[in-house]
Amino acid sequence: MKSGNTVSAIHILDQATVNQIAAGEVVERPASVVKELVENAIDAGARSVRIDITSSLKEIMSIRIIDDGSGMSPADAVLAFTPHATSKIVRIDDLHHIHTLGFRGEALASIAAVSRVTLTTRLRNAGEVVGTRVLVEGGHIQETEETGAPEGTSVLVEDLFYNTPARKKFQKSKNTEIAHIHAILEGICLAHPEIAFRLYSNKNEQLVTDRSSRFLDTIARIYGSDLIKDLIPVNHTLPFMKISGFTSRPSYSRRDTSRIMVAINQRYVSSTLLTGAIRMGYGTLLAKERFPVAFLTLEIDTGLVDVNVHPTKKLVRLSRENEISQAMSEAVKTALLCHDLIPDVITPSQIYLGESVKEVSVTDMSYDLTAPAPSGISETLHTGTVMTDRQLRQTELPTGMVPIDAKVPIMEVIGQLGGIYILATTDTGGLVLIDQHAVHERILYEQVIARTEGDHRSQELIVPFILHRTLQETAILRDLLPALGREGFVLEEFGRDAFLVRAIPVVLGKLEDTSIIDEMVSDLVSEAPVRSVNTRERIIRVIACRGAIKAGTVCTREQCQRLIHQIRYAKNPFTCPHGRPTMLRFSRTDLDALFKRT
Ligand code: ADP
Ligand code: MG
Repeated sequence: MKSGNTVSAIHILDQATVNQIAAGEVVERPASVVKELVENAIDAGARSVRIDITSSLKEIMSIRIIDDGSGMSPADAVLAFTPHATSKIVRIDDLHHIHTLGFRGEALASIAAVSRVTLTTRLRNAGEVVGTRVLVEGGHIQETEETGAPEGTSVLVEDLFYNTPARKKFQKSKNTEIAHIHAILEGICLAHPEIAFRLYSNKNEQLVTDRSSRFLDTIARIYGSDLIKDLIPVNHTLPFMKISGFTSRPSYSRRDTSRIMVAINQRYVSSTLLTGAIRMGYGTLLAKERFPVAFLTLEIDTGLVDVNVHPTKKLVRLSRENEISQAMSEAVKTALLCHDLIPDVITPSQIYLGESVKEVSVTDMSYDLTAPAPSGISETLHTGTVMTDRQLRQTELPTGMVPIDAKVPIMEVIGQLGGIYILATTDTGGLVLIDQHAVHERILYEQVIARTEGDHRSQELIVPFILHRTLQETAILRDLLPALGREGFVLEEFGRDAFLVRAIPVVLGKLEDTSIIDEMVSDLVSEAPVRSVNTRERIIRVIACRGAIKAGTVCTREQCQRLIHQIRYAKNPFTCPHGRPTMLRFSRTDLDALFKRT
């Protein structure tokens, strides 16, 4: 700063700017708006809350929350948009016994600072006939008017982040944002079974709960009633707290903790401490890296919980946290011990055939060839044959990207059975048996057929070889020569009953053994042509069948894994070109049923 400059370099930011900056903490993404507004509705004593999201192809356009709660007077409806305006606390001491979700008075001011908000409200049971509508844009109140309105409050948020381009740009895809909204609402619904929630996305019902005194009803509404049979109740009371809810039978587990939901005093929280404590309750009942599903609620003396850790209030600080987490483990452990974990007999569900392998996974772009086999499962070890490696490399696609619409789940190889079947496990814990030959045949077939006719890429043999045939076969083969030529075979007549093979299709790789070609030709000349299958198709099927690794070939784990990876590129991975299944799946449920585990 130059000396003598009388203008001060420091100035107090105007309120609109302050609000926008503050908004960054509270309103991170569309889901934060939903969270704050729904929490306001709950604090207002709503019995039902409706959430409407509208979106374009790319982004969320509007969020509307309608509640039948207390409503606001005309004066409060305006005041509510002022930063730090709250009806929930008066002084700092009140924080020690907070019974509401909000208390900082920041949400409405923050949301309005970065969007266009229309709030419509009418006081409940106050004899008022009209309500109030307030329109706020970028933090500035534009309009206040009397209006007809039902009792309760409706808040419409549009043009979110219109004046904070950086934040807007930071938003993930529409679907990601909607997924966040779902996740937040699931937590809120579970913490408040006494309130009916309804989420609509572009008028389509997404998530619905009813007012219910049974926690299980709420869980079933959100996650489906199938899950219920895998849950056992938890009830544990200590002088200063009460733990209740449900946790899963050890036979039902997940890879992650995303379905461990904990609410403290009806506030859904994320706490690694408590999640860990719940997992600890299972001890060795669960395999390493497996987690239960749990829906637990804690009622703790409000004096022991500090919710004022972060503006979003999703993190809490617990006094006596060791005691609390120990109690949590204890509660889960007791529930598991007290419960009869030997299940009733159920009828095994049908084992799926190929067509039913319908899980879609789009995330896996790579696969780890070096990962060790899952522990506890013995793997047959083999020395990989060079030949198999070549055959597999032949069908390796240059791109590492699995198509977005891959129909085959991500699988991990367990081992190989009899040199014929690959045993693999899916990420949902199912078992898949894969016919290695059929799968490779399918891959090869699709690659050859994808190539346009003529663009066959033929490879010359260094040493041409002679193929002897009977006279009759020679006649059939002669007719096939042009079609074979289009697929990359160069065969010349060599005397009366023989052919000289000069070149073969590139997909067949380096020819180790000329008998493959002999077999192909045999297939072609011996098999009576089927009318529905044209010559090109016949030839390609033969190439695929003979070019693919054979049943009986001992494969290394890496080779198996490579094959499984390749099949994920296939358009129709579930059958070989002859229509036989390539894989069979036993889902976890099937296995559990067969072992009568559930
Ligand atoms: P906080 O919830 O922390 O008090 P907010 O900015 O979210 O702060 O809300 C400010 C105030 O506006 C609340 O304290 C409450 O009095 C009022 N309010 C907000 N939403 C509603 C609603 N849906 N129904 C009734 N009153 C509401
Ligand atoms: Mg609030």
